[in-house]
Amino acid sequence: MAGGSAIRGSRVGAGPMGEAERGDTAPRLYVSYFCSNQHETRPAFSADVQAPETWDCPRCGLPANLDQENPPPPPKITPYKTHLAYVKERRSDKEAEAILTEALEALQARRAAGEVIY
Ligand SMILES: [Zn+2]
Repeated sequence: MAGGSAIRGSRVGAGPMGEAERGDTAPRLYVSYFCSNQHETRPAFSADVQAPETWDCPRCGLPANLDQENPPPPPKITPYKTHLAYVKERRSDKEAEAILTEALEALQARRAAGEVIY
């Protein structure tokens, strides 16, 4: 094909010519929040608004606040937590290993006794 095209040099989604891709960056305020699982999250707020006192942790869903030494306690209902997260909260890795070993031994004993066949 010979000759230029009227739309050449542009691309889908491009803004008006000459404008910076995302425009000017507004002043941001980064605030650290801490949840009771010691996660730190730093959402950015516009510098001219008051940052909220609490923020939901994006990693575990627990509420987080600005006080690293005294994060908010987990609420009774934590819909974002998985069953495994609850188990990990109650049990240390060492306990988990002991429980797993115990469960495997029990299973092996039952297999040996012919109670479980697979
Ligand atoms: Zn968290």
